Amino acid sequence: MGPATHEIYVVKYGEYVGTRGHYFYGSAADPHEAPVPIDYFVWLVRGTEGDVVVDLGFRAESGGRRGRTHLREPSVALGELGVDVARVPWVILSHFHYDHIGDLGPFSAARFVVQDREVAFWTGRYANRREFRSVVEVDDVVAVVRAGYERRLHWVDGDAELVPGVSVHLVGGHSAGLQAVKVHTARGAVVLAIDAAHFYENLERDAPFATLHDLAGMYGAFDRLHELAGRDGEIVPGHDPELLRRFPAVAGLEGIAARIA
Ligand SMILES: [Zn+2]
Repeated sequence: MGPATHEIYVVKYGEYVGTRGHYFYGSAADPHEAPVPIDYFVWLVRGTEGDVVVDLGFRAESGGRRGRTHLREPSVALGELGVDVARVPWVILSHFHYDHIGDLGPFSAARFVVQDREVAFWTGRYANRREFRSVVEVDDVVAVVRAGYERRLHWVDGDAELVPGVSVHLVGGHSAGLQAVKVHTARGAVVLAIDAAHFYENLERDAPFATLHDLAGMYGAFDRLHELAGRDGEIVPGHDPELLRRFPAVAGLEGIAARIA
């Protein structure tokens, strides 16, 4: 018998329309001004061992400052799915960019799963250099550091299984310590790429995203996603509006939540 199976839900809390120039690196950025809609999601992995939340979105204030449309607090959207946010035991923080760790406060019982390298980078010498500084909120990073002093961080350096059938994997590339999530579901392995692949197109065209820590590492992350999924598994990108069209909506939450597996 294999590990317990889990359900996966994607939950939309924000949106924006950028351009190919914003989102694609190098030759894939053309035509530069072509509009590209992007969705902002958090994820729920539901199994017998309790809910695992993946990422915490951005706050209305920090999203607003960047011109992003903030539709609902991620914690509220998860509440609408029946998640008791004050009792969630595990929250995986894929990486520390502003759109992934903003709504930490309501998860008062959670342990936050972080990669050593992500914490090291954002508390290290290059964090305040312009192109890095602009993709994080200092207050959000400080909240994570504070959680560490409260012994609420679950540190990972590489790969780790959190509960049977749910594991995190260091992939890097887009950020120093970006981690993807692999989930055992009723239809096999599903890999949540998070920002290792924002869109299906990143994988289909082997086209890196424009915001990056390390270009070679981003190609390496594509390879790692395929390796994690295996021959029969599925990779789910982290920001593609296609998800809410491709997967069935949760009744009553159409346009907000869909069931991935
Ligand atoms: Zn992101």
